[in-house]
Amino acid sequence: MKFLAQRRQILGQTLKNGKDGLDALLITGVPNVTYLTGFTGDSSYFVATSTNAVLVSDPRFEVQIQDECPAFGKEPGLDLHIRPHNKTTLEATIEVLTQAGATTVGVEANRLTVAELEGLRELAPKLTFVPQTNLVESQRTVKDPSEVEHIRTAIRVAERAFKMFVATVREADTEKDMVDALDGYIRRAGANGAAFPLIVAAGERGALPHAPPTRKPLAEASKLLVDWGADLLYKSDITRTIRNPYVVTPTARNKFERVGFDFERVYKTVLKAQNAAMDEIRSGARAKDVDAAARKVLAEADLEKYFTHGLGHGIGLEIHEAPRVRANSEDVLEAGMVITIEPGVYIPGWGGVRIEDDILVTRDGCTLLTTLPRDLSAPG
Ligand code: ZN
Ligand code: ZN
Repeated sequence: MKFLAQRRQILGQTLKNGKDGLDALLITGVPNVTYLTGFTGDSSYFVATSTNAVLVSDPRFEVQIQDECPAFGKEPGLDLHIRPHNKTTLEATIEVLTQAGATTVGVEANRLTVAELEGLRELAPKLTFVPQTNLVESQRTVKDPSEVEHIRTAIRVAERAFKMFVATVREADTEKDMVDALDGYIRRAGANGAAFPLIVAAGERGALPHAPPTRKPLAEASKLLVDWGADLLYKSDITRTIRNPYVVTPTARNKFERVGFDFERVYKTVLKAQNAAMDEIRSGARAKDVDAAARKVLAEADLEKYFTHGLGHGIGLEIHEAPRVRANSEDVLEAGMVITIEPGVYIPGWGGVRIEDDILVTRDGCTLLTTLPRDLSAPG
């Protein structure tokens, strides 16, 4: 509760500071509404005025709101507005804004559709709606202790699921079978579901950083790239690249691969790149420098040209959120941010190696939140 109040207070500073002459904020993005209220449903808005905060929702969610955010409608300054079934949420929102005497309202440019903005302007021609970017998102980059705990739990659940997956995978399983099995284990381990569409790429299909699952069986692959995460409201995001456990004597080249590359050499270089990036992380470090540290290691091994995406991203209520850790990022890391570090090498005709871990930025360095081994000998 205390953290929720703190978050609303920080957001309220935007109004107090008089940014763009705003006297109210309309927050419509689902994860942003969750962040400010604790409510995990959708179709509901959060309205902040200079005097109070209002959660605008509909009768379907009344009971859920009582459970998840009991302070709304009870504590001073926190109102609950349940719209009648014959009114839209936009109409109800306009009522709330008008009653509060608002004139200039900040809206979320990245979260409101053009139709919704036009709808608001049509319903309330006297109000001025001013698009704002990243009002709540920038606040969400630094996690409070309760959020870090939620993310840790999502990581533990994902790790348990992965161990079950590795222990039960069968040679005849196709990528689709493996994705389905892992999805089931993630749920069984305690998650609401997978945090994103899972990736299990067999052999040379690992060259696709976001490989959709096919009918290719594990038996036709020397290695497996698995990118998975658990959704427990907060998300985790991990990648491991492992040898096919059924291949007793791994050879440098599998008969299904068109190109020969030494798996162990590539793997160790990617791991070294990940470690070099982690050494760079601390409060005040520039995200682009962290990305460069990983890229430098890959360049020394002549593998940099195969690393075709950014090094990492924030995780939290969403699977991809700020900060962005990549070459063109202007973000600066701060203690309390939780980011992924995921260098990868993708070689067409051979496959890919990616190692992805979840990391908490601290004042002097970072804490690795993932606990699964990262070396080749102990994938599970
Ligand atoms: Zn991932
Ligand atoms: Zn990721």
